[in-house]
Amino acid sequence: MAQLAAGHTWDLAIVGGGATGLGVALDAAARGLRVVLVEAGDFAQGTSSRSTKLVHGGVRYLAQGNIALVREALHERRHLLDNAPHLAQPLPFIMPTYRWWEAPFYGVGLKAYDALAGRAGLGATEFLGPDATLAQLPMAQPQGLKGGVKYWDGQFNDARLALALARTAAQHGALVLNHCRASGLLHGQGQVVGLKVTDALTGQAHALHARCVVNAAGVWVDELRQQDARARQPTSGVSQTLVAPSQGVHMVVDPSFLGGHTGLMVPKTADGRVLFAVPWLGKVILGTTDTPRGDLPQEPQPFKEEVDFILHESARYLRRAPQRSDVRSVWVGLRPLVKPQNGGGDNTKGLSREHTVLVSRSGLVTVTGGKWTTYRAMAEDVLARCAQHGLLPAHAGGVTTHLALVGSPAAGAHIPSICEPPGLHAYGSEQALVARLPGHAHVLHPGLTEAMVRFAARHEYAIRVEDVLARRSRLLFLDARAAGALAEPVGRILESETGLDPEVAAFQALARHYLTLPA
Ligand SMILES: Cc1cc2nc3c(=O)[nH]c(=O)nc-3n(C[C@H](O)[C@H](O)[C@H](O)COP(=O)(O)OP(=O)(O)OC[C@H]3O[C@@H](n4cnc5c(N)ncnc54)[C@H](O)[C@@H]3O)c2cc1C
Repeated sequence: MAQLAAGHTWDLAIVGGGATGLGVALDAAARGLRVVLVEAGDFAQGTSSRSTKLVHGGVRYLAQGNIALVREALHERRHLLDNAPHLAQPLPFIMPTYRWWEAPFYGVGLKAYDALAGRAGLGATEFLGPDATLAQLPMAQPQGLKGGVKYWDGQFNDARLALALARTAAQHGALVLNHCRASGLLHGQGQVVGLKVTDALTGQAHALHARCVVNAAGVWVDELRQQDARARQPTSGVSQTLVAPSQGVHMVVDPSFLGGHTGLMVPKTADGRVLFAVPWLGKVILGTTDTPRGDLPQEPQPFKEEVDFILHESARYLRRAPQRSDVRSVWVGLRPLVKPQNGGGDNTKGLSREHTVLVSRSGLVTVTGGKWTTYRAMAEDVLARCAQHGLLPAHAGGVTTHLALVGSPAAGAHIPSICEPPGLHAYGSEQALVARLPGHAHVLHPGLTEAMVRFAARHEYAIRVEDVLARRSRLLFLDARAAGALAEPVGRILESETGLDPEVAAFQALARHYLTLPA
């Protein structure tokens, strides 16, 4: 905050500390630009901590014939796995088949998926008989099982990856601030020249001047776009919003429902959706849904039909049907689906691939859509657009293609699987640093020590209990009841580190929310 108050002019100011904004911050900082990023809540508090945790090319997009998008995502998948192997790893998936045509039909598609990945591939697609399928997916429904198609994708720890991006950007000189909201834009001579920001911890407001402002606020991008349009034309504003949010629900159950370290993928459920059961951090994630909604709550509620759908479809493919009482945590993420734009003064040539980049007449750059897997390519695209509009200097790009993220272990180091329960290994090369802090031997919960909470406060920008238990440790997502029970001890440690209110009661309420299934 002292750096903000110093009143520099920044090359680039970014709004939003999710995958998109942090990716842009890292790329720009690695190019030597002066970068500041503000996040209203905590890094990855929005959609970026609520994904299905897949680093994937998107088998679904292949079925839609979107070859370029799939190829790009498959290559980005490789870079992500290489640059943060402690947080992103290959995972085999099996598509169990119950009808004779499914294996040849889906097998051909997945062979094409391998071919598109080329040398970036993670392993060859295989056809399995029923016995081999059950050997690797022991809890798949055996009745009527014809076999399975095994293919490879990746999985990751989304919130910790976001944190690694923030910290790597900071190592390259970026100023990254969580708990700091962009409350408005600064305009000068019809152009965006900076941001008004408010420090959530003190309530203090700052004016921040920048040559270029990128709005990477996820589903919330329309707020700043509306302000920008009002500043240009005070009486009209933007009539058309860019984002049509759609929510996705996930539920977490014990590992015994799936058994083993292979994901289960159903390409077409009864109503044509995709369903995954993914082994992750010692539990199993079931999901997801795709339900339009008109509002943008910070913590959306799942709808009853979504919960019923996931439980009902899981029961068709698993030997043991998960019940509501088996659910350890339920969370909802909002997808920023982009509506087609017509006019409104924006240059819409940037409607590209799956994500959208728009540059308004006043120079506000908005980026939304896309997916976690392609955050790096999206960042390059955003910076190229900024350069095209003369907002930033042109640069060749490619600076982050092989840039190892904070915590990346040395080559040859043993890296435990992300399917395993959480522990010190998630810290990669920083394990010794964590272990040296007070409280290393004080285990608060399996996989979480007092030293980890201190590390979160000292090195990982954590202020509130929620920051620690939702996104440094992932306990809220894995077992909301256990997370709620830890609020007080974690709060005491945090307060002793920061001297700030760790908001214990607010977290206890949140933990109850993650346990509530609509009746
Ligand atoms: C259910 C679901 C499952 C998914 N699964 C996968 C998957 O398995 N693999 C994959 O690759 N992709 C997946 N995705 C897509 C991926 O999660 C998103 O594309 C990505 O997280 C979007 O990141 P973002 O930074 O654009 O948005 P967000 O993560 O929402 O970040 C935007 C940030 O902006 C902040 N903000 C808003 N307003 C302001 C303001 N005024 N000032 C400061 N900050 C502000 C918010 O607090 C938020 O943190 C999934 C998406 C959903 C919804």
